[in-house]
Amino acid sequence: MLYGALLLVSAGIIAGVAARLLAHERTRLESAALQAEEGRLRNRAEELSLAVGVVQNEILRELRAIPYEEIDETLRNWERTNPLVRNVFVWRGPGDLLLPDPLLPLTREEEGFLTRYKTLFGGMHGWEERLDGGQADRSVSQQLFHNVSKGNVLAESSGWVPWYWENTLCMLGWVQRGERRCGVELEMAALLSELQRAMPLDLPEGRALAVLDAGGHRILQSGPLDPGDDARAVLSVPVGFMLPHWEVALYTADGRVGASAHQYAVASTLLVVVLFVCLFCAGGMLLLEAQRNRRDALQKTTFVSNVSHELKTPLTTIRMYTDLLRQGRVEDEEKKVRYLSTIASESERLTRLVNNVLDFGRLEQNRKKYQIGRFDLRDVVAETVQSQRLRIGEAGMALTEHFPSEPALVESDRDAVQQALLNLIDNAIKYAASGNQLLVELSRSGREFQIRVCDAGAGIPSAHRRKIFERFYRVDDSITARSQGSGLGLGLSRRMLTDLGGSLTYSPAPSGGACFTITLPGVEVV
Ligand code: ADP
Repeated sequence: MLYGALLLVSAGIIAGVAARLLAHERTRLESAALQAEEGRLRNRAEELSLAVGVVQNEILRELRAIPYEEIDETLRNWERTNPLVRNVFVWRGPGDLLLPDPLLPLTREEEGFLTRYKTLFGGMHGWEERLDGGQADRSVSQQLFHNVSKGNVLAESSGWVPWYWENTLCMLGWVQRGERRCGVELEMAALLSELQRAMPLDLPEGRALAVLDAGGHRILQSGPLDPGDDARAVLSVPVGFMLPHWEVALYTADGRVGASAHQYAVASTLLVVVLFVCLFCAGGMLLLEAQRNRRDALQKTTFVSNVSHELKTPLTTIRMYTDLLRQGRVEDEEKKVRYLSTIASESERLTRLVNNVLDFGRLEQNRKKYQIGRFDLRDVVAETVQSQRLRIGEAGMALTEHFPSEPALVESDRDAVQQALLNLIDNAIKYAASGNQLLVELSRSGREFQIRVCDAGAGIPSAHRRKIFERFYRVDDSITARSQGSGLGLGLSRRMLTDLGGSLTYSPAPSGGACFTITLPGVEVV
């Protein structure tokens, strides 16, 4: 738990610091991208201002070039033919408008024109100021593009007046010719089509550039993206004093500036997650490995003490009976025979145990060699059962045997099969003597032979059924366990039988005891 918590905290701290650093880097990238984008927009705004300036200068130049006596006529002509000219005027001073003459019948356009600029022509506003229908923005008006030197209106002075009427920008250009001030009102639609040419054609995918008027409406647009009507610009800058309150605005498909910063954010978040998971998994695996090693070490210690115990018991018995017989203190012949057979069976037990330990070592180091030969399984089973008959009887178990009448030929390692069977019978005697029943049955099932060893003991609780085949595993692992054992028998037997192409499985016996089945492939008799 402590190691786990330490691991989690340290992995969390490292991932947290990495996340903070990456977030900082991301902010830096985002602001750099924003600045770069803003710079590009300002350049675009300058180009648009320049385009307006070119149109305005051209008109002023032409106005100045008109011969004085032809001014009225030329202007009228312009009004009809020049697409950039919406209205023309000649003005001599406040209330003294020569063209269009307010005393003559006026067209609707002319009436509108006079209404729009009534305050200007009436002298209520100075020409040198930017006028916007009474809402003059004086700070901007200071930058008015004109060449009127204050207090000294030169005969050749000229200028442009940006003029807001009903929220729409209009423009009036003028030239002072003697006492007359003649000029034109610009046709904004024509100006816009000039500006459209200054809009970029090569915008990247998912972007659009637009010019917004004072009301925020898109009046010019370019780029592959078509932002919806209510789309909001991600960035906008003023076009310049030439077009007051107009803005150049950038739209992007994802509503973000600096897609690379966004990608960086996604990638870095992924990176932090991967880092955290890797750290956590690697640490977790190390912890698990350490835990497994600890368990292994513990199992080995238990194994050593279990084996020692198991060796000690038969040795003590053998020694006791040998002493008795050697000292000649046993007179009774029957007793002598019984003691001798006990000594024999205890030494067999020792041999089995030592064999198990040796085989375990060989199998662990992949050094186990099998002696394959053809033999009749009936002989091996009968022989093994015979060697244990006395022990089975002494344990108070009734033995039932079933053998087929046909030969049960297999090609296998006779000693290994015998050792596995011995382990099973020994286990039944050790753990299931209370059931008083032992069945050893050899049968054929298709091409295979099965040796079943079933008892009527307590059986194996379901939670342990898989684990009993693991090395060193014992259901009751304590030193004080009623039956001694090393936890090697079943694992070893299964491993050997699997190597020989067979298997060893457990199933609960119907009576509640344990039933182990050895399966071996049979040999086809032709
Ligand atoms: P060992 O007998 O040396 O402990 P084994 O690998 O032979 O090791 O057996 C593993 C465990 O399986 C035993 O400790 C025992 O708890 C259980 N077991 C084996 N055979 C039987 C059986 N016939 N009845 C009940 N439990 C058994």
